[in-house]
Amino acid sequence: MYIILLGPPGVGKGTQAKLLAEKLQVAHLSTGEILRKAVDDKTPLGLKAKEIIESGSLVPDNIMIGLIREVLSEDKIINRGFILDGFPRTLQQAESLETLLNEFSIKDIQIINITADENELLKRLLNRGRKDDTEETVKHRLNVFKEMTFPVIQFYREKHKVLDVYGVGDIQEIHSGILKILGKND
Ligand code: AMP
Repeated sequence: MYIILLGPPGVGKGTQAKLLAEKLQVAHLSTGEILRKAVDDKTPLGLKAKEIIESGSLVPDNIMIGLIREVLSEDKIINRGFILDGFPRTLQQAESLETLLNEFSIKDIQIINITADENELLKRLLNRGRKDDTEETVKHRLNVFKEMTFPVIQFYREKHKVLDVYGVGDIQEIHSGILKILGKND
């Protein structure tokens, strides 16, 4: 199974992606986690991305597309199936991903869009305590989402069926709701 998880920062994509990956036995591919690890390990990617991540802006498309191409090229990832969490975040990333999925002959992809209202997102992001979650960066990240990532959801609505899920409430109930719309038993 191949899943793209869309939604604003703070909506719980990471949490739901983890639960889903475990349940469906597929790989959880979080570009945010890959980047944070690269920063901690001080790899060339990490050194380039550090300040961008800390400011709440987006890492350039060419870097992100190269990174995803590399990750998907690992045979076992395609064989196992995956959940993409945090990618694509721009129209260019979405278009490149279409090409990549074609190259890998992946046709059947599920798109899940998790939603919540902005006050809830602000509250959650400020309580999360991650290094890149100061008030200033949180506001910037929400604006970057509206400007750069919201059009990605529209892009998918025109091409695919998008499964919308309301992301406020009990974590397990939201997880069950996602399984249900995917046609999977809880
Ligand atoms: P996340 O954990 O998904 O919120 O990602 C944390 C940060 O990593 C983001 O604020 C961006 O700076 C960077 N990042 C993660 N995924 C992407 C992406 N697909 N494109 C650009 N930047 C990204």
